[in-house]
Order: sequence, then structure tokens, then C-alpha cells
Amino acid sequence: MKVTEYFEKANGQTLISFEVLPPLKGGSMQTIFDTLDPLMEFKPPFIDVTYHREEFIYKKRESGYYEKTAIRKRPGTVGICAAIMHRYGVDAVPHLICGGFTQEDTENVLIDLNFLNINNVLALRGDARKFEARFVPEEGGYEYAIDMVRQIGEMNKGKYLDTNIENGVKTDFCVGIAGYPEKHFESPNFELDLVHTKAKIEAGANYIVTQMFFDNKHYFNYVKACREAGINVPIVPGLKPVTKLYQLNSLPRMFHVDLPSELVREVSNAKTAEARLQAGIEWCAAQSKELKEAGAPCLHYYTMGDSETIRAVVEQVY
Ligand code: FAD
Repeated sequence: MKVTEYFEKANGQTLISFEVLPPLKGGSMQTIFDTLDPLMEFKPPFIDVTYHREEFIYKKRESGYYEKTAIRKRPGTVGICAAIMHRYGVDAVPHLICGGFTQEDTENVLIDLNFLNINNVLALRGDARKFEARFVPEEGGYEYAIDMVRQIGEMNKGKYLDTNIENGVKTDFCVGIAGYPEKHFESPNFELDLVHTKAKIEAGANYIVTQMFFDNKHYFNYVKACREAGINVPIVPGLKPVTKLYQLNSLPRMFHVDLPSELVREVSNAKTAEARLQAGIEWCAAQSKELKEAGAPCLHYYTMGDSETIRAVVEQVY
């Protein structure tokens, strides 16, 4: 079933969903099951699986020269989605990124997804590689997520890039996109970011999942601004508990978000790791309860491999 159909069927009830990362190269599917098993009793109708672009390492050869070698650190998004659907009987939402993909690569992944009966996709651009100052698209790939949204829209009409495909089946993908309550960090301002988000919706995207935020006022302001701008699709808040000291710096650095002073104070003043954990859980549970009461369509938790913490949050909310 499509993600948006779950929202419609829920009839105003707030659903719950989880996002998992593929295990590191060499890891096993069991890591994903270990993350999800403790969370399935909350009956998420769908689970997101992130996609990670290959990165490069430099290997020293006997000659003394360094060879640039591509590694895919977290492989298997499509296969993991299929395994999740098979094991739990829920829908899986693969994230697809423009980075590292040509248009043909994207088409091939979408064909695979369609074969596997996976008809939900979160369409994203991806970030710049670690050694690049800005996002560089693959040759023959896309610079912005909107182009992937358009490509999916074409396949939903039965139009493929591969001209050998005649009378191709019309796929039926439901497309989610990313939204940024605190603005995407590259955007000159909030309004322009919203213009680009609206363009993705007009190109055929069906719903938005937000970047994590730690003060609900960002979400409420964002939803209001979206509605005023004529963006009327469901907007799913993304949530992540802050439970470790290092996260006070790493989360703003990686995700370009602000942490409220009160949260920073509570986490840094906690005397023990256990007290810090508890402070983060309480904060995220309070956020979740308020969002639920305000009628958010779904609460989307970034698990990042830490299902016990997410479980402790969700237990307080559902
Ligand atoms: P875009 O929509 O392409 O926007 C990127 C920037 O370009 C924005 O500043 C936008 O305002 C601007 N822009 C858009 N269109 C235009 C235009 N036509 N002209 C000029 N500027 C324009 N990353 C991963 O690698 N893997 C994942 O699995 C993943 N999952 C994510 C899930 C969620 C819910 C979120 C919020 C983010 C996720 N990301 C993931 C991170 C995401 O890839 C980055 O935030 C990336 O920098 C932007 O992606 P986007 O799809 O929002 O890009």
C-alpha cells in the first residue's frame, strides 16, 4: 500500500514509522532485524531504509602509488527493503539519491523496485561527498531531487528512458521528499527553500518527511509556511532523541539543526550516562506527545541503530 493511503486510512490518527540504516559493508541483515524486532509491536505501517552513496578510499599499492578505490560502505537498500517486507509484512520505503546515479541507474533501480512490489520511494538528492565542497552530480545524473521526482512521474505514466521498452508498464510509485523546518543549509533563505519544495510537490511528490528538529515550534511554523505557500500534502515530522554528550555537536554539524538551550542544558548537566539517556528520552517523548496531539500524520523516528532508546520514547506516546 502507498504511504499516503495509510495516512488517508488513519483518518486523523497519528501513525508511527521508523527509519533504519543499512548495516556497514560486511554486516548482516540480522543487524536490521535486531533493530526492528523490538519496535514492531508498535505496528508501523511502513519502514524507511536509507541509501548511502559510495565513498572513495585511497589504497597504497606496492609501487608506492595510491589507488583510488570506490567502496560502498552501506550496501543493499533495495534488498533490505524486500527482506523487511517479507519478514514483517509491512511496507518498506527505500530512499533513492541522485548522487552517484545516472538517470539510467535510477530507472533500473525503479524497475527492480516495481518487480519487488515496492511502490513507495523517498526521492532525495544526497549530500556532497566528504572531499567535495559541494554536491556534484554523476555525469548523466541529476543535480536536484526534483529531476528524480519527474522521472518517477514519467514511469508512472509508462514512459521509460530506455527506448527499447515499448508499452512499458505504468509503475505506481508514491513519492516522498525531504523538507527542512530550519531550511536546507545550502538555501540562501527559508522562502527560497520552500519555493523549491513546492516545485517538487508540483512535479508529483506526494508527501514530505522533515529533517529532525528538537523544538516543535520549527515544525509548526514550517507546516504553516507550507500551507500558506500552497503546499497541501502530509508533512511527517522526523524525530531523534539526543542522549549522548557528543551529539550536542555532531547533530548540528551533520544535520544543520539547532538544539534548544534547555535541551543542551539538561543533557550536559546530567551527571551520568543513564541520566543523560533519560533526559533525551523525556525530551523526545514530550515532543512526540505534542506533535501527536496537534494531529501530525505520522511520527517518523530516526533509529540510527538504537532501538532501545526509540522504544523507550514510543512506549510513552503509544
Ligand atoms: P533538493 O531538493 O535537490 O535540494 C537541495 C538544495 O538545492 C536545497 O537547498 C534546495 O533549496 C536547492 N534547490 C532545489 N532545487 C533547486 C533548483 N532548481 N535551483 C536551485 N536550487 C535548488 N541523504 C542520503 O544520502 N541518504 C538518505 O537516505 C537520506 N535520507 C534523508 C531523509 C530525510 C527525511 C531527510 C530530511 C534527508 C535525507 N538525506 C539523505 C539527506 C539529503 O540527501 C540532504 O539533505 C541533501 O543535502 C538534500 O537533499 P534534497 O532531496 O532535499 O535535495
